[in-house]
Amino acid sequence: MEFDADRFVNDIRKLMLHLIRNEKSSSMEDLSDLYTYVGFLEHLTGSEIDVNRLFLNNKKLDEWLAKYYYADANRNINFVNTNFSDLLTLAKSFSPLIDPETPIHVSNGKYSILDRSKCFNEKEYKEILYSFFALYGDNIFKIVKKMFDEKRIVLFGTINKDSDAYTVFSDYTKGAYINCKLGFDADGLSIMAHELGHVIHFYTSGINNSDKKAYTSILGEAISCSFEIAFMDYLMKNHIESDSALLLLNNKLSSDANSYRKYIGVSPDEELVLNIDGEITASPNHPRLIGKPMMADLKYTLGYNIALNMLLTCGDNKKEYVSRLRDFMYLMSKQGLKENIETLGLNYDDFLSCGTIGPYVKEKNQALIRKVSK
Ligand SMILES: [Zn+2]
Repeated sequence: MEFDADRFVNDIRKLMLHLIRNEKSSSMEDLSDLYTYVGFLEHLTGSEIDVNRLFLNNKKLDEWLAKYYYADANRNINFVNTNFSDLLTLAKSFSPLIDPETPIHVSNGKYSILDRSKCFNEKEYKEILYSFFALYGDNIFKIVKKMFDEKRIVLFGTINKDSDAYTVFSDYTKGAYINCKLGFDADGLSIMAHELGHVIHFYTSGINNSDKKAYTSILGEAISCSFEIAFMDYLMKNHIESDSALLLLNNKLSSDANSYRKYIGVSPDEELVLNIDGEITASPNHPRLIGKPMMADLKYTLGYNIALNMLLTCGDNKKEYVSRLRDFMYLMSKQGLKENIETLGLNYDDFLSCGTIGPYVKEKNQALIRKVSK
């Protein structure tokens, strides 16, 4: 798959010029976009890049970049918009659904589900993604196709060690790019469905810079997780690599259950405190770190919980699915967890008790365990 590096480098240049020429109208978010673009360029080239030295060597830009570091250190504090006792309730309902002994990342030959996983060619890979996203209507299909047609995707990319893939975008250049280290198998496909979910979020929400908190909010992964989970379900229902999809789904659910189990270890008289690095500690008197970094875990666990609820309440009605997600995108940064769940047309108590998703999660977990113990 080809990548249009010229377009990408040109976007970086545009963004830098914008920052220098329009100091008043550009924002910290534009600087943050520049940083993520530069990170992407570093992963493309495999070397550290001082982008200002490379392109412009502008003093003012150096000052902006220094200012960004300071502002960024204080950003995570915006993440708190959720009642932690509700999260404990959710944790207690979700984690018993998954057997702690669930075999995950099965690729060692013993279970060999992923070893048998088919590798598609590039044409098949695109066709599977196109036919899935086409179910959600013309607008969404066009966004996905544009990413491929305009060569905005790096496959088998060099990437930071913590992730399999990520997406960068800029409000100013209106450009999104995906970097993914995986390729043409079920794993790579479902990661791509997730990343394309971020791109859909970016292009359809109409979010501008002042509203950009949505991406970094505690629910920032919910849209992408919704497309990813629906995609795994699509692979299973259409008998496209259904064993791999079942395993991949269980990998997500197991890691969610493990994240939630960290919460359950917190006793009711402990106070949870979010620190400036986005980590959560318990007990102010004897600070104890619960997982690291907890906020990142939480974004995914909540995202997958929402995704499963959406799949089971309106997964077959794609029009309804898209319209609920669209309302949610507009409002997610402006309201708390309960209001957001209700915006999605879900019942909050049912969400916290995993009432709707419980049987599905349990069934999929047991199905994998049966399969690998055969
Ligand atoms: Zn994501």
